[in-house]
Amino acid sequence: MKILIALQDCDIRMRDIQIKEAEGPKKIHRLKEKLAAVEDQLKEESNRLEAYTRERRQAEQEIEEIENRLKKADIKLSNIKSNKEYQAALKEIDDLKRGKSLLEDRAIDIMEQMEALEANYATSREKIEETRQQFELDHNEILKILKALNQDLDKIEKKRIRFSQAVDPDLLKRYDSLRTHKGGIGVSPVIKGVCQTCHLDIPPQEFNELVRGDKLMTCPNCTRIIYWGDDERYKNNRVASQP
Ligand SMILES: [Zn+2]
Repeated sequence: MKILIALQDCDIRMRDIQIKEAEGPKKIHRLKEKLAAVEDQLKEESNRLEAYTRERRQAEQEIEEIENRLKKADIKLSNIKSNKEYQAALKEIDDLKRGKSLLEDRAIDIMEQMEALEANYATSREKIEETRQQFELDHNEILKILKALNQDLDKIEKKRIRFSQAVDPDLLKRYDSLRTHKGGIGVSPVIKGVCQTCHLDIPPQEFNELVRGDKLMTCPNCTRIIYWGDDERYKNNRVASQP
């Protein structure tokens, strides 16, 4: 019975470790998503900055073209003879100047927007460095924990093999089958007449038999193998079993 209890303890601890181990990759996945979100934001800001730069360059080119046309229009103006042609040339110059003024306003607007965006971009770049460093730290920490868990699991597994070799093969089979079908718990302590796994009462007569401890008994409710939890012999081996 003592070995069986120890075996159950191993199995519970192995199950707990496996649950924790399964958490590791999930945590890493969440970290990666967080980093990717910050990287996406940075990329988006960088794309917008590029778009503004292109637009600004284009506006500057257009201003230059208009300036060239204005020079030509001025030369034309000085060679004009008729009043009608003169009026038309003046109107052309007026239109060109208006177009230039609009483009200049646009260029200023773009530059102002770029300034704000560049400040954001600088902050984002700092943030991404921090996020990357934090990612490395957290990632390494998780890997370290996983490695430690794996080492613990190895030790317990070895211990379990030793215990299982010491248990009667039929009893081991029965225990393993119960454990498989009963949420990982095949052996349960009974304290003050209550099975500590299914939390139901054991009939008093059966509990008395259990306290005497001269035969292998099972819980009449959950069918797990039971032992008297207050038995001095088992007290140190007793496990806190939860289904
Ligand atoms: Zn029970």
